[in-house]
Amino acid sequence: MDSSNSAAAEAAAAASSSKKSIESSIMIPNKLINNHAYSDAYESGITTDNIKTKNFDQRFLCSICHGLPRYPVLMPNCPHVLCAYCAVKHVETSGTPSFYKVERRNARCPECRQDFKFSEYIPFMKFHSINKVQLMSIDVECSYKCGYAGTIFEVDQHETFSCSLREIQCPHFYCDRVGPAGEISKHYATCGKQASYCGQCVLPVSMNEFHDHDCIKRLKIAVSGITLST
Ligand SMILES: [Zn+2]
Ligand SMILES: [Zn+2]
Ligand SMILES: [Zn+2]
Ligand SMILES: [Zn+2]
Ligand SMILES: [Zn+2]
Repeated sequence: MDSSNSAAAEAAAAASSSKKSIESSIMIPNKLINNHAYSDAYESGITTDNIKTKNFDQRFLCSICHGLPRYPVLMPNCPHVLCAYCAVKHVETSGTPSFYKVERRNARCPECRQDFKFSEYIPFMKFHSINKVQLMSIDVECSYKCGYAGTIFEVDQHETFSCSLREIQCPHFYCDRVGPAGEISKHYATCGKQASYCGQCVLPVSMNEFHDHDCIKRLKIAVSGITLST
């Protein structure tokens, strides 16, 4: 009785859980889900030409993109591995009709056609320790070719936050310049689009625009989301 109650409670919790909790349960950082600045190429696995270790176990390669997963997940009923990102895409685009919540959809392993549910994926944290050690011993290098090398997680962090060759946008509000981080950090100091804040409407105004700034017009634009050309 107790066990069936708790199973029912678990099922109810799973059914009502948000997309966010599924994502965190398979360890995909939110940035990979919501930030469109990241391309498909970035989100899928590390390509084999960036893997330095010779003779690593090929079964760690994602069955969908054939790269080495940045966030590996294991299939529940077979030994196949996918990138967490590829797994989400795979379940979203296969099997059960799309009005089902993602965690309740059925899909098949792209490699051996075994059935599984999205909620059954095994996250890296729950891999057998031998698999964890093997995966962590694979040496990969930064795909921007800056020379940095490390584990899949180290390289993922490096490429996302610290590589001087990764593409970023100038942080100034009005500037849309994009380029390698090292170059943008130099540009940032002398960027002509630096914004300041109007003392009356408190909206950001670029230095170039300050002389003909009109608070009412700027507020209308901010509220409506419409960009007027002046
Ligand atoms: Zn993949
Ligand atoms: Zn399989
Ligand atoms: Zn790098
Ligand atoms: Zn700039
Ligand atoms: Zn103003």
